[in-house]
Amino acid sequence: MLEEQSLPPEIASKFDEEFEDDYIQDIDMLQNFGINSLDIKKLKSSGICTIKGVQMMTKKRLCAIKGLSEAKVDKIKECITKIVTSNFLTALEVCQKRQHVFQISTGSTELDKLLGGGIESMAITEVFGEFRTGKTQLSHTLCVTAQLPGSNNYTGGKVCFIDTENTFRPDRLKDIAERFNLDEEAMLKNIIYARAYTSEHQNELLDFVAAKFHEESGVFKLLIMDSVMALFRVDFSGRGELSDRQQKLAQMLSRLQKISEEYNVAIFLTNQMTSDPGAALSFQVDPKKPIGGNIMAHASTTRISLRKGRGENRIAKIYDSPNMPESEATFAITLGGIADAKD
Ligand code: ATP
Ligand code: MG
Repeated sequence: MLEEQSLPPEIASKFDEEFEDDYIQDIDMLQNFGINSLDIKKLKSSGICTIKGVQMMTKKRLCAIKGLSEAKVDKIKECITKIVTSNFLTALEVCQKRQHVFQISTGSTELDKLLGGGIESMAITEVFGEFRTGKTQLSHTLCVTAQLPGSNNYTGGKVCFIDTENTFRPDRLKDIAERFNLDEEAMLKNIIYARAYTSEHQNELLDFVAAKFHEESGVFKLLIMDSVMALFRVDFSGRGELSDRQQKLAQMLSRLQKISEEYNVAIFLTNQMTSDPGAALSFQVDPKKPIGGNIMAHASTTRISLRKGRGENRIAKIYDSPNMPESEATFAITLGGIADAKD
């Protein structure tokens, strides 16, 4: 249950329930089609909890689950075809589905404006920048603002935080909660936290995340990974391991994309930068690039670059977007989290 003390009483609003009714179908219903409960349990323990979740997995991935033979997987896939009679929606139905998309405020109205309202659900937002540009501070602020009701019927909800660098600080959350007049304890209880120790562990945690999002359906609104690439960088070194790294990264990012759509949550990733020595030689304006290459670039719906401004001010810029203007927003890092810059 969501800790409700600081939140509106009926957090899973009618709006959320409609989303669930229409889009979230529990795989338990496979039992009605002759799939035994043990096999369903195996799927669930791999974080596959919905009909859509099964649809999103290739046969090969399903066969890799311990105890699921190819024959069983075939049977499961056949049931799914019976349940999901049409993969096509009308454009009107797509519109209706998109109505459930919400935005979480960043704490700064300028930055929200740049993002078209805030961090969006059913999408991946990536921020990257050099050290001390505010990526972790922004992550902390979102932990709190995600719990506040917002525009477009957004009711607020729980947050999942995956930390790869051990920089999560609940004390910072308390400062931020004070700014928004939230009860500290209730706010902290609405955040689940895991420290990832290896890139493999980081990926495995997503099994648990999917199961949790399913179990508390409609309650979780935001998944944060701070930072997405740090462990991949350590676990795979040198050119020789690059293609292996990119393959594993692609798998994880594809899971994140699926989770964002399946459960209508916002995914927020922080990323580091590399300085590209070749780029400096070729006189590029922006020699510093986010790491993760094309795989990362394609997975993120919105990419934001951060750089330092005067004092505690930071400047955010949309990076590389085909449909958003190349404008900038200035915000400040304050005791109460990310806020508008003064002056
Ligand atoms: P890294 O790449 O090292 O992870 P980052 O982009 O995550 O860096 P943050 O840790 O988010 O950087 O930002 C650090 C900045 O936040 C520092 O400039 C610091 O002054 C500011 N900051 C941290 N705590 C507070 C606070 N309580 N009040 C005001 N500013 C703070
Ligand atoms: Mg950080």
